[in-house]
Amino acid sequence: LNVTHYLRQHIRTVPNWPAPGVQFRDITPLLQNPKVFRVLIDAFVQRYMDPALRPDVVAGLDARGFILGSVVAYELGLGFVPIRKKGKLPFTTVEETYELEYGSATVELHADAVQPGDRVLLIDDLIATGGTMMAGKKLLEKLGASVMEGAAIVDLPELGGSARLRASGLPLFTLVDFG
Ligand code: IMP
Repeated sequence: LNVTHYLRQHIRTVPNWPAPGVQFRDITPLLQNPKVFRVLIDAFVQRYMDPALRPDVVAGLDARGFILGSVVAYELGLGFVPIRKKGKLPFTTVEETYELEYGSATVELHADAVQPGDRVLLIDDLIATGGTMMAGKKLLEKLGASVMEGAAIVDLPELGGSARLRASGLPLFTLVDFG
């Protein structure tokens, strides 16, 4: 099975959403189909069960990173921590603000979510400009952890985000590119 080819067929492209001119890559059909969902999750699990690549903890980015990250963590026998949009986490947090095309966004992480020295796998559904994943990496680093790899289903390489993340020293693992 060519996993990339198989998964690509089940990603839906929605034109002009959420704004005119945007081609939104919708990964919900991958989750909806049980066979495809298993292929998707197994692609991540098989990679990170390798002892050389096994993280200490899995962090997921709000909100589709929660769906993927929690299942991957469970299958690996690891814990899961959510990185949330500001104002959702109840306990003491660290926060990071980053620039969007219009305005800015802030994400938060519980201050006790990871321990200094933890090697964290950081998961989201898609990398566009890379701003979200970079903010997640900075949050984890504020707590003394390191991100051993960033993982996503989709990369949009033409936006340059994955190249910028790699240039910052973050290894990336993605399954499907859309040019
Ligand atoms: P970035 O911060 O520009 O890399 O954008 C990535 C974030 O925006 C991720 O959390 C994605 O879930 C979301 N995102 C941006 N574009 C898309 C898309 O086409 N499909 C799904 N999610 C997207």
